[in-house]
Amino acid sequence: MIKTEYYKDLTKMNTFGMKVKARCFVEYDSVADLVDIEFGDLARPVLHIGGGSNLLFTDDFKGTVLHSKIDFIEILDESHDPQLVQHSDRTSLCHFDPAKRVEKPVLVSVGAGVVFDDFCDWAAKEGLWGVENLSYIPGEVGASAVQNIGAYGVEVKDVICRVYCYDTVEEEFVSFGVEDCRYGYRDSIFKSPEVKGRYVVTHVVFALSRIPQPRLDYGHLADAVKEAQSARASELTPSLIRKVIIRIRKEKLPEPSVMGSAGSFFKNPVIAHEHFERIESAAKAEHGADYKVPHYDLPDGTVKVPAAWMIEQCGWKGRRSGGAAVWDKQPLVIVNHTGEAFPEEIIGLEKRIIASVKQKFGVELHPEVDHI
Ligand SMILES: Cc1cc2nc3c(=O)[nH]c(=O)nc-3n(C[C@H](O)[C@H](O)[C@H](O)COP(=O)(O)OP(=O)(O)OC[C@H]3O[C@@H](n4cnc5c(N)ncnc54)[C@H](O)[C@@H]3O)c2cc1C
Repeated sequence: MIKTEYYKDLTKMNTFGMKVKARCFVEYDSVADLVDIEFGDLARPVLHIGGGSNLLFTDDFKGTVLHSKIDFIEILDESHDPQLVQHSDRTSLCHFDPAKRVEKPVLVSVGAGVVFDDFCDWAAKEGLWGVENLSYIPGEVGASAVQNIGAYGVEVKDVICRVYCYDTVEEEFVSFGVEDCRYGYRDSIFKSPEVKGRYVVTHVVFALSRIPQPRLDYGHLADAVKEAQSARASELTPSLIRKVIIRIRKEKLPEPSVMGSAGSFFKNPVIAHEHFERIESAAKAEHGADYKVPHYDLPDGTVKVPAAWMIEQCGWKGRRSGGAAVWDKQPLVIVNHTGEAFPEEIIGLEKRIIASVKQKFGVELHPEVDHI
């Protein structure tokens, strides 16, 4: 079924809770419905959204907002020839790369409209390993493949086999092997300016595994999991790791249903090593010789510095500006503090943070959140 609405209120369809409307809103249930949509006739621009958890609507949307409700989760038959996967609802056959990265993979096909955390929950209950560290990230499966979501040392590209899409320009189905997706940090070919908006993700095939493969080498995750294991006298399972991660995330991040946000607002900047040394010596002069600036040395000699640290050093943590505020437990997150914030208030705060980080550290922060 295809549902079309005009002047649709999007307040509940973006986790920032911006009170905006879309001139036209089209929601479809299946791949067959998607091909029935006359893309040429839609009011422009066209924006496909998922859960709206990485978007900041800066105004009413003048074109068409599309949303998928394709919501199946299906384990592909073990007898299935992994080289070929028949596209659901379609006759075209798409070549499939065997999952090379996972021992004895269990291939799972998931519709783009499935809430990503529902998929994580399903996988944990099935005893399947691979997505437990990505638990509780807001949003839907289609967007996860666009964004290359990541958390606790895992990126979704680590478990993606193939991304199936509808090409709205050529009006045909295409599929991308994981290497074709050009995945980077929260980045993919689907976000590149040349093709942005062209491909609608219909479903994604993941390679999960029944063989335990915990990834606990991030921060204090191993300690937290060990503690939970002994408290519950439990085995190490995807469900246990999922529970621990959900608990940690709830402590740190605002719950979208309670406090609007789009998660991390800024990207972590990557700077030259000499630039980092200047920042570090200034920080030692300010805080004492033993002070350590958090950072990650990258293989090419550059240094990634947490934007959250810079924002906090500029005194922004917990500060409010109209309806917008910097989250007091994680300064990388800007929140709709009152629930009534206007886009201009969020953007005003964003600009002031960028300016003060630039002034103090000589570093330009860039938003991770897509401004629409
Ligand atoms: C509290 C909070 C915590 C967060 N924590 C994390 C985290 O730990 N790690 C992380 O990586 N992200 C995190 N995020 C960001 C966000 O959850 C992810 O970016 C998520 O993948 C966005 O999914 P969505 O369905 O909401 O997509 P949207 O925000 O609606 O869209 C994101 C992009 O995907 C495109 N898109 C959506 N659906 C489709 C489709 N079917 N076909 C083609 N393109 C599509 C959109 O056009 C847009 O470009 C967090 C956000 C919040 C609010």
